[in-house]
Amino acid sequence: MVVVMSPDATPEQIEAVVSRVRTTGGEAFVSRGVQRTIIGLVGDVDHFRALNLRSLPGVADVIAISTPYKLVSVDHQPARSTVVVGTGTGARPVMIGPDTFTLIAGPCAVESLAQTLEAAEMAKAAGATMLRGGAFKPRAAPREFQGLGKVGLHILAEVREVTGLPVVTEVIDPGDVDLVSGYADMLQVGARNMQNTALLQAVGRAGKPVLLKRGIQATVDEWLMAAEYVAQRGNLDIVLCERGIRTFETATATTLDIAAVPVVQRLSHLPVIVDPSHSAGRRDLVLPLSRAAIAVGADGILVDVHPDPEAALCDGPQALAGADVRELASTLRRLIPAAGRRLGDPSPVGL
Ligand code: PEP
Ligand code: MN
Repeated sequence: MVVVMSPDATPEQIEAVVSRVRTTGGEAFVSRGVQRTIIGLVGDVDHFRALNLRSLPGVADVIAISTPYKLVSVDHQPARSTVVVGTGTGARPVMIGPDTFTLIAGPCAVESLAQTLEAAEMAKAAGATMLRGGAFKPRAAPREFQGLGKVGLHILAEVREVTGLPVVTEVIDPGDVDLVSGYADMLQVGARNMQNTALLQAVGRAGKPVLLKRGIQATVDEWLMAAEYVAQRGNLDIVLCERGIRTFETATATTLDIAAVPVVQRLSHLPVIVDPSHSAGRRDLVLPLSRAAIAVGADGILVDVHPDPEAALCDGPQALAGADVRELASTLRRLIPAAGRRLGDPSPVGL
């Protein structure tokens, strides 16, 4: 159940709803939007009905949820969302949404300050307005590089300070969400954790935008239900990322489900971006798949770049460098206006 407060509802009226819900043993998660506040209720629906919440001052509507995802659906919000990333950390905030095409780029894994800084400069040169980089790496093989952890988070924050790029980085363990939130501008939930409900709930409570990758065996419905877990905890600043799914095809690491972009856009108001690097796992396919992402109407791409891919500790074969980065830059400059969008476009000053 969702309680929609009227635009002029006072903090006391919101609190009154929350405390009334708690009298039933239920939980109430407050999401303060620009225009209105919504309160997601988790618990016994019959108990909530008996509370007659609609009669409370400041309550505009009480919506019973009959579909598995509601907050993230176009029924709840027909207009496409824009997610703002990078406020309050000294970074230059970035908008991810329908008017822009956002390039997020950086190394797969943070390996050192010098490597991350160099990758961030390459990302910027390609037109990126956000930096990616893993400090906690969820590797399939247990003996492969697992990331620098907290040291990697420090490095990301330093590189943000130098470059002004907001940072997205993955969090794997629900117990690390507070730690990672202290450094990151956006929390990434990776493909392997898309259905880790404890993690989804923890990032939903963290108050930072979330980048939710699609699990390689997840249907679009399962992906949107995962997003609903985050939204239900009071966080609607979610960007979805299509990163390929497992099929019988072995020519690529996974099969990029390009149709998922418009499919999701018909079901959900959330921005959706594409990861051409992890989906194919092959450098030579990153540019063609980036072009496909622009043409299909994605809101951005997430691309691996590395100053020395041969020496990369993680995913070197898919990382762009040198001439490939320059080609990515010129491709974006040519094609994004043709798709009716603006490249990058940091948010207006003042956000
Ligand atoms: C990543 O982006 O670093 C990553 C591990 O991707 P995925 O979760 O999509 O495999
Ligand atoms: Mn990777």
